[in-house]
Amino acid sequence: MKKVIVIGAGVAGLASAIRLQHAGYEVEIYEKESLPGGKMHRIKREGYEFDLGPTIVMMPELYREVFELTGRNADDYIPMKKLSPMYSAYFNHGTEKLKVSNDLVQLMELFEGVDEKDAEGFLKYISDLYQRFNIAKHHFLQRPFRESKDFYNLSTLTQGLKLRTLGNAENSMAKYIKDKRLRDIISFQTLYIGISPAKSPSLYTIIPMIEFLYGVWFIEGGMHRMATAMADLFIELGGRIHYNAPVNEILIENSRAIGIRTNVGMIYADYIMCNADFPYAQKNLVKDVKAKGKYTDHYIDKMDYSCSCFVLYLGMDKQYKEIDDIHNFIFSEDLDDNIEQIFEGRLLTDPSIYMYIASKEEPTMAPAGKDGLYILMPISELSTAQYEWNEETVAYYRDKALSKVETLPGMHNIRNEIVTETFISPKEFRKQFNAYNGATFGLQPTLLQSNHLRPQSKATHCENLYFTGSSTHPGAGVPIVLLSSKIAAEELMLDDAL
Ligand SMILES: Cc1cc2nc3c(=O)[nH]c(=O)nc-3n(C[C@H](O)[C@H](O)[C@H](O)COP(=O)(O)OP(=O)(O)OC[C@H]3O[C@@H](n4cnc5c(N)ncnc54)[C@H](O)[C@@H]3O)c2cc1C
Repeated sequence: MKKVIVIGAGVAGLASAIRLQHAGYEVEIYEKESLPGGKMHRIKREGYEFDLGPTIVMMPELYREVFELTGRNADDYIPMKKLSPMYSAYFNHGTEKLKVSNDLVQLMELFEGVDEKDAEGFLKYISDLYQRFNIAKHHFLQRPFRESKDFYNLSTLTQGLKLRTLGNAENSMAKYIKDKRLRDIISFQTLYIGISPAKSPSLYTIIPMIEFLYGVWFIEGGMHRMATAMADLFIELGGRIHYNAPVNEILIENSRAIGIRTNVGMIYADYIMCNADFPYAQKNLVKDVKAKGKYTDHYIDKMDYSCSCFVLYLGMDKQYKEIDDIHNFIFSEDLDDNIEQIFEGRLLTDPSIYMYIASKEEPTMAPAGKDGLYILMPISELSTAQYEWNEETVAYYRDKALSKVETLPGMHNIRNEIVTETFISPKEFRKQFNAYNGATFGLQPTLLQSNHLRPQSKATHCENLYFTGSSTHPGAGVPIVLLSSKIAAEELMLDDAL
C-alpha cells in the first residue's frame, strides 16, 4: 500500500485525505492545531460556541459528495436545512431592512417592491450569470491545468472568451438595476472569496447567482460539524490524524518529495499532499530552491493577496428577538468607498459588517436564553494595510463594529450585554493557520491568478508533491476548496497509475 502524507487538516486536506484513503492509499494527516478544520475551526468559551471562519453553506451537493463517494449517507454526518429567507440586509444606519430570499416569488416581491424595472433587470442579469455559471462549471472549475496547452486550446479559449464577453458584472448590473441597495446585495458576495466586486473576473460574479438560484444552507451543529464529520469519516476509513504536529519541512531529494520533517523527526512517504497555504508552504516548507520552480520567495511576495477579516466573537447576556435571521449584513453607507479602502490598505472609516447568530438555528451553541454573536468585518491583508495591527487597531475596529451593530433594532445596548469576548485579526490568521499575509482567502483570484495562471495542484518542479486549498486552482471558499481537493487527489492518482 502506498503511503501519502497530508500536511494540514483544513477542509481541502481532510477531503483529499478521504478520497485517497478510500482509493486504497495509506494516508496520515499532520496538523499543527489541536482540532480539524483549519479556518473551519471552533471557539468554545463559557458555554458559548462559535464557528471561527466559514458560516455560509453554498453548493451543499459538494459538501455531501465527500461522504457519498465512500458510500455513506451524507445526512448521517452533516444533516442540513435550507434557510429561507437567506439573510437580512441593513442599510441607512440600520433603519432600512431588505429580507433576501432565494424563493423566486419572495425575491420578485423584494425587487418589485423597489421598482418593476429593477425586477426585470434582475431577471436579465441572473440569466447572464447562469450562462456564465454553466461555462465555469463545465470548463474551468472542475479540471486541472497541468500544462499550458490545457488552457491554450481552441475549445477552452472559446469558452473563456464567452465568459469574458459577457462583460464586467458591475457595469452590466448598473445598466439593468438602478437601486443602489439592490445592486449592493448582488455584488458584495465576491468579498466571500476576498476580492473586490469591481475587480473580480467575470467568473466570480457567479457567486451571488449560486445563492439566489440554489440557496444557502445550514449544517445542524454549525459549520465546524463538517470538519469533525470529515475527520470522523477519514478515521473510519482507516486514516490517521496527528494533531499538534506542525510540519517544518517537505523533504525533497533529487527533485522528488520523499517525506516531511516534524518536531519529532523525519517521516517518509511515497507522496506528499500539502494543504498548508500554498505561498506559505513554498516559502517555508519547500527549502530545495530548484523544487520551488518560479515560486521563489521574491515571486511569492509580489503576488496579490485576498483581503482578510477581523472577527469578534461575543457571548451575550440575552437573546436578540428583534433580529430574526441567522445571517445579517449591515452595509457601509458607501460600499464602493469601503471596498476601495480595504483593497488600498487604508484604515476603514465606515466598514460593512456581517453578523452571524448561530444560536438562532442551533440553540446548543449558546447557554439557554442567550445568543452568541459572530461579527465579521472584511479588512486589508497585512502586506496591503498601511497601518500596524496593534492593540489600538483592535480597539478601533472593535468600536467600529459595535457602533454598526448598535444601529440594529434591539441591539443598542450590546456593549453592556457582553459576557465573554474574543477576536481574530489578520495577525492571528497568519500565526494560527499560516495564512500568508493573514489573507484569509489566500491568493486573490485576479485574472492573472486564476485558472491556468493560479498555482496548480501538481508541483511544477518536484515529483510526488501536490498542493490543495484556497491559494491553488480553482480558489477559495469551502465548496471551491472541496473541488480543489478532488482535482488534487485525481492528479496524484493519475501520476501513480502511470
Ligand atoms: C472569517 C472567514 C469566513 C469565511 N466564510 C466563508 C463562508 O461563509 N463560506 C465559505 O464557503 N467559505 C468561507 N470562508 C473561506 C473558507 O473558510 C476557506 O476558503 C476554506 O476553509 C479554506 O480551506 P483550506 O483547506 O484551503 O485551508 P485552511 O483552512 O487554512 O487549512 C490549512 C490547514 O493547514 C494547517 N497547517 C498550516 N501550516 C501547517 C504546518 N506547517 N504543519 C501542519 N499543519 C499546517 C492549518 O493549521 C490548517 O488546518 C471563510 C474564511 C474565513 C477566514
